Amino acid sequence: MPELSPAQMEFLIDLFGRDRVNAGPSARDLHCRDYSFHHCQPPAVVVWARSTEEVSRLLAWAQDQAMPVTAWGVGSSVEGNPIPVRGGVALDMTQMDKLLDLHQTDMQAVVEPGLTYTDLNAKLRHHGLFFPPDPGAAASLGGMIANNASGTRTVKYGATRDYVLGLTVVLAGGEVIHTGNRAHKSSSGYDLTRLFVGSEGTLGVITQATLRLAGLPEHFAAVTAAFDSVERAVEAVVAVKASGTGPAALELVTAPLARIMRAEGLDIPELPQLFMEFDGFSQNSLAEALEVVEGICRDLGCRSFSAGLGAEEHSRLWSARHAAAETIKRAHPGLEMLVTDAATPISAYPALVAFAYDFMAREGVTGYVLGHAGDGNLHVVWPGDPGDAAGWAKVEAANEAIVAEAIRLEGTATGEHGVGIGKRKFMALEHGRSLAVMQAIKRTLDPRGILNPGKLLPDA
Ligand SMILES: Cc1cc2nc3c(=O)[nH]c(=O)nc-3n(C[C@H](O)[C@H](O)[C@H](O)COP(=O)(O)OP(=O)(O)OC[C@H]3O[C@@H](n4cnc5c(N)ncnc54)[C@H](O)[C@@H]3O)c2cc1C
Repeated sequence: MPELSPAQMEFLIDLFGRDRVNAGPSARDLHCRDYSFHHCQPPAVVVWARSTEEVSRLLAWAQDQAMPVTAWGVGSSVEGNPIPVRGGVALDMTQMDKLLDLHQTDMQAVVEPGLTYTDLNAKLRHHGLFFPPDPGAAASLGGMIANNASGTRTVKYGATRDYVLGLTVVLAGGEVIHTGNRAHKSSSGYDLTRLFVGSEGTLGVITQATLRLAGLPEHFAAVTAAFDSVERAVEAVVAVKASGTGPAALELVTAPLARIMRAEGLDIPELPQLFMEFDGFSQNSLAEALEVVEGICRDLGCRSFSAGLGAEEHSRLWSARHAAAETIKRAHPGLEMLVTDAATPISAYPALVAFAYDFMAREGVTGYVLGHAGDGNLHVVWPGDPGDAAGWAKVEAANEAIVAEAIRLEGTATGEHGVGIGKRKFMALEHGRSLAVMQAIKRTLDPRGILNPGKLLPDA
């Protein structure tokens, strides 16, 4: 990776100060890979921004120098999204981490992008509000917006995209724009806010966001229901979704994952099962929903049904679900993980799950099947060694087959993780002629290709 010239380093030190510019090996290594198997590719230098003005001056200079700039949240992506594959500057946003304003009556917050959603929610709790998308890792709001992240609560509350009302974005070349507004609705012009949500730092750097919030529900109930087969568990997903009970989480956990969760102390059966959560404004409304859901699961022959778990058990269950990727990693020391993230309409979800199982049985390849089932989002976590060419090729082929099937079923290659490096190869299949429009947008907003190059779009 070419180092920066003394004059380039001098510019950055002038702009950020010596303590916020680091070209040393440890800073570069800390910004060279995310949570995925994609290998380490360090930037030439790391800088830490504290204001929109600094980001603007950086991007004006970077465009002039044709210098790659890759924004960095907390690096928890799972598709190589923040890896600076062409070197240049890693723009760490973690020091822009303020809650700038809270509009309590409007249920809105104005935030800087380096604030994590967990820290935001800790601040909002006292106000009876919360920001629902919860990707598990303590992700930054900028990274969540850029990846359009979602999580266990998306089945009821939606994805990050549904909570972004407006953005301050610095474009390549340094121009600062403000998108959106704080009105509850607007029909004014092209929806630039949504253009930047999910753009993975390839169109601009987000330096401020106005977010919609939700009221914190007073009552919660966690439910687990175990079944003899994955087919039955998935049938239950579709039926619960259609029941009108409005689950706040509806997650599929299959037996191999249940086995390693048990080994780490979670008291669940080693069977395919659903983890569910319901929330509401009264115990009565919750009790009614739980009765309906229990009826559905029992009609489908569930082996066990536990509702109304205590607070401690409730938090243990959801912590274990959020830590599933870590649990799988610990069970396979030394291996990397490729993660399938396909999603379909809910009606097609059973077909996608069945396809994944048939493929694994036919090709003799195994992965951990789980997912945000209520969203039609299927994850298969494939442990493997990228250095073992034959073994890794099998894992890649399985992932490719499942993604192709999801797209055939009118779904997507990525329900929540974003395209990053690993899913660029599916963009033409999924988007057809629309891909050329995306490429034209990229050329218009970033003519010299300095913003997170090598991501999201396939090479021209
Ligand atoms: C254990 C685990 C579980 C996970 N579970 C989920 C899950 O359930 N759902 C889910 O959606 N994701 C999940 N993820 C993935 C990840 O947490 C999310 O994608 C998250 O949104 C990434 O945020 P980050 O702060 O780590 O961003 P980073 O990984 O640092 O960056 C993500 C992308 O955003 C860009 N970016 C960062 N900041 C900005 C900015 N200010 N302006 C413009 N671009 C920017 C980066 O260049 C990069 O392309 C999981 C990850 C882990 C490790």
